[in-house]
This record gives sequence, C-alpha cells and structure tokens, in this order.
Amino acid sequence: MDRYTALVEALTAEIPGFRIVRKDQSAFHRAIHYGLLAVTLGRMKSYLDSFQTTIGKTVYVTADWDDWPADRRYVTLRHEAIHLRQFRKLTLPVMAILYVLLPLPMGLAYGRARLEQEAYAESIRAASEVWGRAAVTNPDYRKYVIDQFMGASYGWMWPFRRSLERWYDAVLATLDERR
Ligand SMILES: [Zn+2]
Repeated sequence: MDRYTALVEALTAEIPGFRIVRKDQSAFHRAIHYGLLAVTLGRMKSYLDSFQTTIGKTVYVTADWDDWPADRRYVTLRHEAIHLRQFRKLTLPVMAILYVLLPLPMGLAYGRARLEQEAYAESIRAASEVWGRAAVTNPDYRKYVIDQFMGASYGWMWPFRRSLERWYDAVLATLDERR
C-alpha cells in the first residue's frame, strides 16, 4: 500500500465522516471562486484548479487530483489533515471566523496565517519525509512556501517576510531534532 492510501485509511479512522470531494463538482466552491475573484479584483483566478481546500470533515480537491503521483497527494493530504484536526478542535464557526475575518480578512490576517503556519509546517515535514531534507532546505521551496503567506494566493495573509523566514527555519530546526 502506498503512503497516500495508508494516510486516507488512517484519516478515515481518525475523523469519522472524513471524505474527499472534487471541488469543481461543488456548487459551494464555484460560489467561493467567484467571491474570491471579486474581492481580489480578479487576481485570484486559480482557486478551483490549483488549491485543495478543507472545510469541516471534507477535503475538496482539484479535478486532476487522481492524476497526481501518490507521493504528491500524500504530502498535500498531510497539510489538509492539520486543517481537519483544526476544524475538529475549534468547530466550524470558530474556524471560519479565525480563518476569514480576524483581525482583518486581508493584509493582516493573523488567524489565517497561524492556522496555515501549522499546516505548512506539516507540509514541510511531509515533503522532507518523502523527498528528503534537501527538498525543503532548497531556497526555491522555502520562497514558495513564504510567498503563499505574502501573495494573492491566500489573500495577502501576512506581510512580514523576516518573521516568516524565522518561522520556516524554526520548522527546519525541528526536523533536525527528530533525526
Ligand atoms: Zn492550508
């Protein structure tokens, strides 16, 4: 059994009601897509076909998900598993308010940035496990992760590059401790 299939099985046991659904087949996600286009003045075009999204117990995936290599799906699902656990711990209304509104929806979205930092830390750990430590110490990967926080992808969550770099390097340091 590959890592991805094993993780799906583990999450099915851990989170009763867990499911994976195609985003483009969800009317709700098409509505979010148009909302994001509006609030980002057309810059966030790729919500339906570039991002996997977790709400409650459901991970919504892009149409090409099943074509991805199993290891890539595994690394992404490790990230989404953190969000599944956040929803379970905080409940959907609290998660929604923290993620979308506090203290600002864009520019200084501290709640969203903290929730995503927890999930991206897991992405870094999973990528290191699958592709080796060199994959996550690679400056391009580090910049890619940090740019997720600073750019349009998540509505300009957090503007402070140095604090994000310190966070990233602190996650790398925990990888070293585990070895
Ligand atoms: Zn996330």
